Amino acid sequence: MQVPFLDLKAAYDELAELSEPKMLESLRSGWYILGPDVARFERDFARYCDVSHAFGVANGLDALRLALVALDIGPGDKVLVPSNTYIATWLAVSQCGAIPVPVEPDLATHNITATGIRAAMAPGVKAVITVHLYGQPADMPAIMTTARDLGLKVIEDAAQAHGARWDGRRIGGAGDIVCWSFYPGKNLGALGDGGAVTTNSDALAERLSLLRNYGSREKYRNEVPGFNSRLDPVQACFLSIKLAVLDSWNARRAHIASRYMSELSGLGLTLPHVAMKADPVWHLFVLRHPNRDQLANDLAEVGIQTLVHYPIPPHAQAAYSELQLTGEELPLAAKLAKEVISLPIGPHLSQDQTDHVIHTLKRLA
Ligand SMILES: *Cc1c(COP(=O)(O)O)cnc(C)c1O
Repeated sequence: MQVPFLDLKAAYDELAELSEPKMLESLRSGWYILGPDVARFERDFARYCDVSHAFGVANGLDALRLALVALDIGPGDKVLVPSNTYIATWLAVSQCGAIPVPVEPDLATHNITATGIRAAMAPGVKAVITVHLYGQPADMPAIMTTARDLGLKVIEDAAQAHGARWDGRRIGGAGDIVCWSFYPGKNLGALGDGGAVTTNSDALAERLSLLRNYGSREKYRNEVPGFNSRLDPVQACFLSIKLAVLDSWNARRAHIASRYMSELSGLGLTLPHVAMKADPVWHLFVLRHPNRDQLANDLAEVGIQTLVHYPIPPHAQAAYSELQLTGEELPLAAKLAKEVISLPIGPHLSQDQTDHVIHTLKRLA
């Protein structure tokens, strides 16, 4: 039996009948940049996240860059970032001319904490980007209290956590600006690149709406030096349809995760830890194992595809050689990069496929 890591074709097929007429209508409307379809999705997404404003942008990396610029982060500033995140979180900081300063995560949740932020504080740090990694929401109430105490702006990288809740409340509006990716593989994935920013601040909303559209609200009047970073109307149509099923698709992921959690316990695998107030959306199901590569090979031999998120931490990438971090400064990021392995999970993983993963791991352990 083949178990692909994620089946995007099955996701498309399930929504084709509903979404294709809407997308065709949008293509035939003659309106190709922003416009009513994007505005409708933005309203839907803001309501879903229980937040005042949402703006569709070109991708998740741009969402982060726009957020940093909107918060006046620029050359010479430092920004705290998790040491174990996807490199986009770091690149957004670098591309604004600022310097990423790594924060080591909590080994149990893989997210950064208020304590970690305090420990990593340094002169020149103006902001922190927290990541809701693997779909597990970070403890934003604690992080906000500490960040305000330290005078830091807060950006949330929610690229992996559409729909997650903390203490019963949907994420999306705790920090100053929250950044989203609609990359096809994300829980709320489009049919190409896409992203969004959400905020509860009217002033920041105003800046973000200008920044994503050449700094302009009126054609050929440019108030600030903005970007060209806009969500496409066709993607917005598809995303509106997908948003309506997101909770039920996240519930399918949660069902698989709860089977993995109960049926894989006691096998010597380090299973994910869910914080008490967290209601994760299981973008990824990440285990730790001391012989990760061997385990991945053994699973591949019986048709089970796994991935590693992430095999090389940002500080060890050639892109960051100028930071001259040897890795000894970031032992947790280095350890995680060696030990993590992501099992197949997704709304279209069948019961038979889930059984195959579980039985195989029981046999191998
Ligand atoms: C996917 C992702 C991004 C970047 O999103 P893109 O849409 O691919 O630019 C940023 N941060 C994290 C944590 C991600 O997983």
